[in-house]
Amino acid sequence: MTGSTITYGGERISFSVVENPKISGKVRIHVYPYGSVKVETPLNTPGEEIFAAMRKRVRWVSKQLQLQREGRLHALPREYRSGETHFYLGRRYVLKALQQDACPSAVKLKGGQLQVTTKNNTVGEIKKTLTRWYRLRADDYFKKRLREISANLGWVDSPPGLKLRVMRTQWGSCSPAGLICINPRLIRAPRDCIDYVLLHELCHLRQHNHSKRFYNLLDKNLPNWRHVKSRLDGMAELLLVE
Ligand SMILES: [Zn+2]
Repeated sequence: MTGSTITYGGERISFSVVENPKISGKVRIHVYPYGSVKVETPLNTPGEEIFAAMRKRVRWVSKQLQLQREGRLHALPREYRSGETHFYLGRRYVLKALQQDACPSAVKLKGGQLQVTTKNNTVGEIKKTLTRWYRLRADDYFKKRLREISANLGWVDSPPGLKLRVMRTQWGSCSPAGLICINPRLIRAPRDCIDYVLLHELCHLRQHNHSKRFYNLLDKNLPNWRHVKSRLDGMAELLLVE
């Protein structure tokens, strides 16, 4: 395996070259996660042919690398500054930090903006105000949906108790005593994903494990839950970050 670099729009793109006896004719270009670029060639492909192929696709390669960088940037810890992206019920909002002397801190959704008004407009104040708002919205929304979903489930007599708990890798849990814990950060997810997590925990009220019977129950009440779960899994990194 050898390697080389090519320049595009002021960006130096490194790539490795691998000969593959199984391919014939065309050079293949792959962009892998974390910015690695690999060029697969038939045996004995001349260097200038490899460069010509890279030059032809370099715009596309550069775009892939840019998209990857942006995707990773979204999962970085938030800075709580104007212009940053925040999520609520699956929608993307742009944070707008506003300063006002006399009023108590407030959060308002307006158009595509998440407006956070604080007295001193410091990062600490904005973060605290926003976290508290998310928690209140989560408590309210999850309780409402637990009531509504429970009403259709034969094994739930009355909606179970709800506790909010920040977890780093989990959306929810259900205690043997029947108390449901939900991660307040789930309020950032789309509504169908929230419903799936709530239903999952409600099924645990009947089946306290992940047995076949548990999944049968889930299948019966939400036939497409696997699809919804995989969507939520795909967003998890983005939604769980503080
Ligand atoms: Zn479970």
